[in-house]
Amino acid sequence: MKGVGRETEFHKQYEDAVQAFRSKLGATYPIIIGGIEVKSTEGTFADTSPSDTNVTLGYFQKGTREDAKRAVEAAREAFKGWSLVDYEKRVAIFRKAADYMSERKFKLAAEMSFENGKNRYEAMADVDEAIDFLRYYAMQLEENQGYVHEMSKLIQSEHAKSVLRPYGVWSVIAPFNFPLAIATGMTSGATITGNTVVLKPATDTPLLSYELCQILYLAGVPPGVVNYVTGSGSTVGAELVENKDVAGVVFTGSYDVGARSISEFENSSPRPFVAEMGGKNATIVTEKADLDKSAEGVFRGAFGFGGQKCSACSRVYVQSSVKDEFVKKLTEKTSQIKIGDPTEKDVFLGPLINESAYKNYQQDIEDAKKVDAKIVFGGEILKDGKYANGYFVKPTVVVDAPEDSKIVKSELFVPIVVVEPFQNLEEAISKVNDVVYGLTAGIFSNDKNEIEKFFEKVEAGVLYANRTSGSTTGAVVGVQSFVGWKKSGSSGKGAGGPWYLPQFLHEQSQTFYD
Ligand code: NAP
Repeated sequence: MKGVGRETEFHKQYEDAVQAFRSKLGATYPIIIGGIEVKSTEGTFADTSPSDTNVTLGYFQKGTREDAKRAVEAAREAFKGWSLVDYEKRVAIFRKAADYMSERKFKLAAEMSFENGKNRYEAMADVDEAIDFLRYYAMQLEENQGYVHEMSKLIQSEHAKSVLRPYGVWSVIAPFNFPLAIATGMTSGATITGNTVVLKPATDTPLLSYELCQILYLAGVPPGVVNYVTGSGSTVGAELVENKDVAGVVFTGSYDVGARSISEFENSSPRPFVAEMGGKNATIVTEKADLDKSAEGVFRGAFGFGGQKCSACSRVYVQSSVKDEFVKKLTEKTSQIKIGDPTEKDVFLGPLINESAYKNYQQDIEDAKKVDAKIVFGGEILKDGKYANGYFVKPTVVVDAPEDSKIVKSELFVPIVVVEPFQNLEEAISKVNDVVYGLTAGIFSNDKNEIEKFFEKVEAGVLYANRTSGSTTGAVVGVQSFVGWKKSGSSGKGAGGPWYLPQFLHEQSQTFYD
């Protein structure tokens, strides 16, 4: 009874928040520089819902290079004070921010469903992850006592310390797909350690970053420590990468943008660039696996948020002896998905994020057909009735694509999963590794030796065995450090893990003599 009551309450609070937001649609939002609300000289752009492009959430400023420059300047000014604030005070501010975010979680989840099309559970998970980042990084800073370490001494009168100190201004460049969690993780990682930031959200999702900034200010983050500049990647984003007063960049997004930005940034002088990028994540299903659990895990991994997660499972290698049975189970589950407006209660799959993703999906289906891959389910866009004004597509299961085809090798970022056969585990692992990315991977098997071999040999940062809630997805802050190998990441240290914060700090050795 208690559980049922809680669930009813969850739905009621979420639906109330959806209603409340409907009455606020269409507001105009500013850029925030040094605590001051600013309008762009270039006017605004509309933030529309991918479920129904006639719905405008709000109007956001088309920031310019000048806006980005002024924000960097404000962050530089604010660094002078913030970098000297006692770490315990910073910890207290970010804990307060976590509390404020928690109080607003239904509002934030509702806004997210409108803005990027996440269903209510996925949206709430995104908000929860953001809250976890705030609390986890506060705990890390506290446990490491502000990263001050007593060193050894050569002579009695010598007193040496290693102190990790902030660099200065960081550019924070965020993606659309975890509009609160990832923006919060990157922003709080940089600022809780004493740096100041300019946050540029993805153009598809400016609202959730705006809300994040409001929460941080309310919790006591001083003006100028977090600056918020909306605008396109090619203007605001490019300035934040090219600006010589930026001490570091923390970026999450595609490999193409990340790699170009890294070489641009590092060319001018050696400075840290922390990048989390794409993935082409695979799941192995052996003949020793529970096939029901495997199908459930792959289904969730592949189609949660329409495959628009960097960790999404987009390839499955299934041992030949069980492949047909597995495909049947996966297809059955996929065919039962409810697609539609993500604010509706039973909808599992909302729309794709934008027109370009929608076109990519159609192109990917054409490409799959051209290489004679077989589409066993899906492969179509949805255009009629309630789908008419959004970017809705059917989740798609493809089999038997050539191993060197685009569908097997490239990140698609749409709900398409390809299932391929294998004979033995060595072969499957070598295929899993034969892509440029190394983000996440999963295996289903009831044989401990197989799992051990998988853990030993797979070249990716986040590995799961027998994870039914998502074969490659769903890392939890403080439990699964989220890190990309190969072209999936630049630093080898994971978000939500113990080595994340030191990336925002450089070491100083301090020695005094009596
Ligand atoms: P994206 O297109 O690369 O955009 C990411 C951010 O970069 C956006 O804010 C974008 O701004 C900005 N940007 C674009 N061009 C830029 C430029 N020339 N200079 C500086 N910034 C620029 O990625 P997305 O479509 O938002 O996100 C999906 C991608 O992110 C996928 O590849 C996914 O795998 C990856 N991702 C990785 C992780 C991870 O932890 N490894 C997590 C989430 C997502 P505009 O929006 O204005 O273009």
